[in-house]
Amino acid sequence: MGLTATTMARHVEASRKLQKRAEQMIPGGVNSPVRAFRSVGGDPLFIVRGQGSHLWDADENRYIDYVGSWGPLILGHAPPGVPEAIGAAAKNGTSFGASTAAEADLAEIVISAFPHVEKIRFVNSGTEATMSAIRLARAYTQRKYIVKFEGCYHGHADALLVKAGSGVATLGIPGSAGVPEEFTQLTLALPFNDAGALELAFKKFSNQIACVIVEPVVGNMGCVPPAPLYLDALREITLRNNSLLIFDEVMTGFRLAFGGAQERYGILPDLTTFGKIIGGGLPVGAYGGPAHIMDMVAPLGPVYQAGTLSGNPLAMAAGLATLRYLRSHKSTIYTGLEMLSAQLTEGVTAAAKDAGVPLCCNRVGSMFTWYFTDGPVTNWTSAAKCDTEAFARFFRAMLDRGVYLPPSQFEAAFLSAAHTEKDVHHTIAAAKQTFATSHVAS
Ligand SMILES: *Cc1c(COP(=O)(O)O)cnc(C)c1O
Repeated sequence: MGLTATTMARHVEASRKLQKRAEQMIPGGVNSPVRAFRSVGGDPLFIVRGQGSHLWDADENRYIDYVGSWGPLILGHAPPGVPEAIGAAAKNGTSFGASTAAEADLAEIVISAFPHVEKIRFVNSGTEATMSAIRLARAYTQRKYIVKFEGCYHGHADALLVKAGSGVATLGIPGSAGVPEEFTQLTLALPFNDAGALELAFKKFSNQIACVIVEPVVGNMGCVPPAPLYLDALREITLRNNSLLIFDEVMTGFRLAFGGAQERYGILPDLTTFGKIIGGGLPVGAYGGPAHIMDMVAPLGPVYQAGTLSGNPLAMAAGLATLRYLRSHKSTIYTGLEMLSAQLTEGVTAAAKDAGVPLCCNRVGSMFTWYFTDGPVTNWTSAAKCDTEAFARFFRAMLDRGVYLPPSQFEAAFLSAAHTEKDVHHTIAAAKQTFATSHVAS
């Protein structure tokens, strides 16, 4: 390769100053906790600009970005057509609290990609999507209990903040303060990749479980793929017990395939939740399913759910431009992402092996995590065995070499269609140097 990735004389003064100012007014200086770098140390970046696979911070450092706004940016930053679509929509007014044609346009694309979705409702975040889908599942089944899996994150609604991975796991908080026990008593948290545990729960709570909600490929304890036939087992068990299966595809939808994880693994859930990519970088979430379930939502049915800015014209425009681009390039984009992601993860994993650093890589398509453990990582218990201090050293060393990874061991990294072989070579070279010089595993 002959590539070098020397440590930059990286300035942080401007970001540090902005962080200090923000901290006086905003808790931790951030509007979402993992952004604060608490588990990796160092100065959180203040971003000035993003273009393609790159970010520039307030100190004019340039980074290859593997965070991608935590998932939405499958086409990279400011991809051709998306800023233009947002601008064109904005010129006609930013919000009406009444319907625009773009809502049905976006609905049509999502419905075409997800065969079990006949109707869809747009909301403003993934959190709202999962919260609403669970309300709907409870109303439809007239049952109270819900099942989630340890390490899966479904947003920050009270009932779902139980063993909830990523941000929560990073901070070591069991659930969250401010959530009364009574509010989570109806949430059963089971180990992921263990169909037997689900069978037992259905025996114990027979005819009482409204739904099982799962990240079909987990991204929020780092990337953890489903074991072979695990998703098939979830489908079979929920069907047999007249319980709904909810695939939370907020992260995986339009990422692992145009039709999400359910296309990739060939499983049809009852309800699907969306977010991230469908908003093209603007705040959007959605939930969808068969008409006979979705028609229980107000105004047709008794399940109340609403939103002042839901279906916002700018957000719909960004989502539409993104999904239309993906649809017309899907025969090349997903195979390209697969190949380049494999090249990247295999290169870094090999570099760790050469340097004697224990590293276990999980990857599905363009979602991946380098776990600092021998592995395998198949659920929350095995993910939690990671050497998070080693990860933190790796993270900081890579940042100094111009590579921006998610600032937590328990968050998936993403490749976008804007990443190039040059980016990948630079990243592998940076990892080699890091493993050789930084005593990551010491
Ligand atoms: C990001 C995420 C959410 C929450 O979405 P927000 O838009 O952050 O509220 C829910 N579920 C999964 C699987 C996610 O990755």
